[in-house]
Amino acid sequence: MSGIAELSAIDLAAAIAAGQVGAVEATQTYLDAIEKREPRIDAFNEVLAERAMDTARSIDTRRQNARPLGPLGGVPVAVKDNLCTTDGKTTCSSRILADFQAPYTATAVQKLEDAGAVILGKTNLDEFAMGSSTENSGFKVTRNPWDTDRVPGGSSGGSAACVAAGEAAAALGSDTGGSIRQPAAFCGVVGFKPTYGRVSRLGLVAYGSSLDQIGPLTVDVPDAALLTGVIAGHDPGDSTSVAKDVPDYLGQLETPIENLRIGLPVEFYSNALEAEINAAIHKAADIYKAAGATILDVSLPHSRIDCDAHGNLSSYAVACYYIVAMAEASSNLARYDGVHYGHRTAEKVDDIIDLYSRSRAEGFGQEVKRRIMLGTYTLSSGYYDAYYNKALKVRRLIKNDFDKAFEQCDVLLCPVGPTTAFKIGEKTDDPLTMYLADIYTISVNLAGLPALALPAGLSESNLPIGMQLIGPVFSEDRILRAARMYEKASDITRFRSEMARA
Ligand code: GLN
Repeated sequence: MSGIAELSAIDLAAAIAAGQVGAVEATQTYLDAIEKREPRIDAFNEVLAERAMDTARSIDTRRQNARPLGPLGGVPVAVKDNLCTTDGKTTCSSRILADFQAPYTATAVQKLEDAGAVILGKTNLDEFAMGSSTENSGFKVTRNPWDTDRVPGGSSGGSAACVAAGEAAAALGSDTGGSIRQPAAFCGVVGFKPTYGRVSRLGLVAYGSSLDQIGPLTVDVPDAALLTGVIAGHDPGDSTSVAKDVPDYLGQLETPIENLRIGLPVEFYSNALEAEINAAIHKAADIYKAAGATILDVSLPHSRIDCDAHGNLSSYAVACYYIVAMAEASSNLARYDGVHYGHRTAEKVDDIIDLYSRSRAEGFGQEVKRRIMLGTYTLSSGYYDAYYNKALKVRRLIKNDFDKAFEQCDVLLCPVGPTTAFKIGEKTDDPLTMYLADIYTISVNLAGLPALALPAGLSESNLPIGMQLIGPVFSEDRILRAARMYEKASDITRFRSEMARA
């Protein structure tokens, strides 16, 4: 069957279940696409071709024996390389873990496999998920399939780029401050960060443990609903995963929400936002209005973004996030010392401290070192109260603002990032500018909320513009339905890059 790569994951699973397409045929199609496009995209750290073909063959055998295939039976998916898999390596795109072989598979990946998915390989990221462009990878820079001079966003840049380039039917990413949503927006795909606790983090290499969450990157909203349903649920192996039933996200997806109240956070529509993005999101609001929704202004005062006369941005949420996330990272990354985990120096060492510091100096990249130092500083005695405890208070204020806003509206509609995909190298000299790429996404993680990024439209220079829908905790079903309303009402169905169609 031709056009396999044009099918959504749901349609491909249906075609495989009906015997119109073989799992082997589908997997080979994607492996061929990877071979053809990877030289220009570099989305994958490792392609697990043999293993993928073995899985695909077993799916085809199941079908021949009339056994059920699972909701993702035979669908080729990619996973971010900070998710542990017993096949292949789990590197977090860090030289310190360049040879790390995980002893178990992350629950979310296992659930995909149990649902019949074929794991194609591991995708590139900013080292330990620290970044917004995938340029901080210890191995290589992934390119945006819409314009290969531009970044795909980050840190799940490899996952977003491979879906946008038609190299995988869907992918998993992780989101600590925007790392699923921002690359989804840059690459014109759908990215969903579920509520903190909705998906098990077991087997996700920890960055900021109170913020991290795994979620899907897909070509459309129904696929996001399907994958979220597959990976969600309680896991005794992750005490922060919540024992709450997982709704059937696909069940009600096509039914529009009546009397939907959409809040526009006034603080997000400032001069910090590119005019084209502002216009695209307001156009989206008009589409919702025409579909019967009410649009109202709401306020998130502690997520305010200030922009001075020189264009310099500042935000409480960014400051708060970069204290909380760095503090947690400095603690989480202490285990990579060449003894417990990770690369060990080959140099002659004086003592154990020397061994630790040389191994870490050789293994970690510059951005990771910067963050470990920042985090260690804010946690050190004398500074803990001034920085870390204060940041926790600000975090609570940010969360309270959202709670108040959700008394007035059902979902929030806002930008994903202040710009469309930027040029490779454009922000690498100035970490602060890079941090500000997350001004609209990080408060969601600080508040533990679910949020979805989906394509709103295209810019004049033919780059995807994303928009973000945020809801209260465990409102995944509402967000997905609201997103689906837009997807159906607008002309943004199956938004694909040229490359994916080639
Ligand atoms: N860009 C943010 C950071 O650098 C968020 C990354 C993420 O969500 N993993 O920390």
